[in-house]
Amino acid sequence: MKYPERTDIPRKPTLTSPVSLLRGYRGLWNAPLEKLGIGTIRDLLFFFPRSYECTGELVDLADLEGESEITVVGEIEETRTGRTRYGKSIFSMTVGCEGLLLKATWFNMHFMKDKYQAGDRVVLSGVAKPKADRWEMTHPRVSVVAEDAEVQGSQVLPVYRLSQGISQPAIRKLVRTAVEDYVEELEEAIPELIRTQKGIGSIHEAVRGIHSPESLEDVAHHRLRFVYQELLVLQLALALRRWHHSIANKAPQLETDARIHARITARFPFELTAAQQRVVQDICDDMSDSQPMNRLLQGDVGSGKTVVAEYAMLLSVAHGHQAVMMAPTEILAQQHYRTLSEDLQNSRVSIGLLTGSMTAGDRRQVLDDLITGEIDLLIGTHSVASEEVRFKSLALVVIDEQHKFGVRQRMAVRNNGLNPHYLVMSATPIPRTIAMGMFADLDISTIRKGPDHQQPVHTYLGDPAEREKWWKFFRAQLRKGRQGYVIASTVERATREDLVSVEEIYEGLKSRILSDFRIGVVHGKMSPADKEETMRQFHARELDVLVATSVIEVGVNVPNASLMTIEDAQQFGLAQLHQLRGRVRRGHHTGYVCVFGAPANEEAEHRLQAFVDTLDGFELAEIDFDLRGPGDLFGTKQHGMPPLRMADLRRDRTIVELARDDAQAMLESDPGLQSTEFVKLRKQVLRRYGRVLDVGDVG
Ligand code: ADP
Ligand code: MG
Repeated sequence: MKYPERTDIPRKPTLTSPVSLLRGYRGLWNAPLEKLGIGTIRDLLFFFPRSYECTGELVDLADLEGESEITVVGEIEETRTGRTRYGKSIFSMTVGCEGLLLKATWFNMHFMKDKYQAGDRVVLSGVAKPKADRWEMTHPRVSVVAEDAEVQGSQVLPVYRLSQGISQPAIRKLVRTAVEDYVEELEEAIPELIRTQKGIGSIHEAVRGIHSPESLEDVAHHRLRFVYQELLVLQLALALRRWHHSIANKAPQLETDARIHARITARFPFELTAAQQRVVQDICDDMSDSQPMNRLLQGDVGSGKTVVAEYAMLLSVAHGHQAVMMAPTEILAQQHYRTLSEDLQNSRVSIGLLTGSMTAGDRRQVLDDLITGEIDLLIGTHSVASEEVRFKSLALVVIDEQHKFGVRQRMAVRNNGLNPHYLVMSATPIPRTIAMGMFADLDISTIRKGPDHQQPVHTYLGDPAEREKWWKFFRAQLRKGRQGYVIASTVERATREDLVSVEEIYEGLKSRILSDFRIGVVHGKMSPADKEETMRQFHARELDVLVATSVIEVGVNVPNASLMTIEDAQQFGLAQLHQLRGRVRRGHHTGYVCVFGAPANEEAEHRLQAFVDTLDGFELAEIDFDLRGPGDLFGTKQHGMPPLRMADLRRDRTIVELARDDAQAMLESDPGLQSTEFVKLRKQVLRRYGRVLDVGDVG
């Protein structure tokens, strides 16, 4: 027997139904809500307040004596617009409060006239002054409340983001309705056991609480639940990615033995330091495994990371495979190419260079040689990651100064089924919390102490009044045969009035300050060939002084350079300043750095002081993190990871740790998060990170 189809019975909307099915919904809200990213009822529940408004104790005007700060509720009797003698617009409303009158006035808030009408019930907060026949308020906070809404004093009202066409009261009401009717349908993703352990409320309490909290402490408490959940989901994603890669990808197993080790190290012009040996050991362990290495090597500027990378590359070649090293700038790629070529003189290892500025013919040749295996080691800029670059058998990818590329630079490798090992290097130490928060899927090796010959650096905060003294010293050092840098934050004159440009500095030095010396210029707007030529001259001591922008920040190595002047230092971040300083820390001479700057605020002042006081890059990274949070370096935005919505890695650092431990424990008991207990969490992980972290097909 066939049942008739019962399409006629209206079903109750669900969380995923369009928001338009909500009780009390009005069609003209479609566009504004869409703009706010609200499509479904669920979206509305998770449309969290941007901030909160606290109303004061609700008072009766009749009880007031003199001027005081109050909150009252009343009904608008009339609104008026006008202008002052000087042309400012005035908007005012007269509000009836239990028989007494209150006049509220706003200047230059013309748009208010469309938002408030006679008959509206409003709550006003601000300072009230008594006048002969009424009370007056100027610029009070005001919001319309529904006729039937219960208005209490000392209330915390949510403030939502708005868009043209929907008002604060309207959206408040809409959210309230959604919460009343649908909050119970939200599914709890965090297992009960964990919630009790952590003292975290249910999703229902939390959503309700975040929209209509009793107090600001209440907001903080509910916020914690979402922060924890967000960080837990991130940690699970990173851990799942790691797990997934370990079972899905196979890399060539490259064992090291005494003979290989001896052959490789014989190529180096120096003994490895203890720290370098430790890292080499980590890398050898990783690369002998069929699970691809995924290691971050962090070490201060000048700590000697290059040779470690070289070791790993030569290990690949020893096993008949290729290796590639990607550098963020052409200058740096060239420099690596030179270093490696020197070390490998008269060996059978062949090295190729691939950069954006090569001729098509040269490029073609390199590409061909990679496919045939003619080239063993490839050095280049990001052009080595392009689709058309194919290898015969690539075993290792090294990414130098990876923070310049972004966190998730991977290569589109076509490689006969095998995956390469990855070694990424960074001179910007990653604060502990970030390492844990965003890089939990990487193994991390650290070089804390550079080769012994690394020179101390003296850093001074330049007093603008004593510039001449510094330049005198600078000249004296140049005369002794040292070389120096002068760093500017902008290239051209007049990009900003208050900043001094490379051009201006060059002219000033040339005509007055350093007129006896040979001065070169290098910046990002020059052609790669010109840059390279200038760098070569500086390297060869054909120049005494290099005026530069922060293009020289990454990795440039001229051992004889020991002087640096940094102009407009407030324009640079701490990590960047420290990188710059690294340029004069590499040779056989004590380095001297003087920073001039006009810090615009206290944070910038702290930053410069910290730079002067602290030589340890790791310490600076933590200070920077304390001052500015994750900043843009490791902010997730620019690197394709969805931004954290609630969590703030700085403020919530203890929760990052908690979430990491919990994620690890969960995955230990259930590596694929397959059990029913975790299935909802897993769903969230995939929804949020499946695509970017490439864990979409887990399980
Ligand atoms: P970074 O970590 O900033 O990339 P580099 O690898 O460029 O540092 O090394 C900085 C300088 O130290 C280079 O001139 C390099 O030749 C030198 N160096 C590296 N390791 C050693 C070592 N074990 N002994 C002596 N000098 C070293
Ligand atoms: Mg380097």
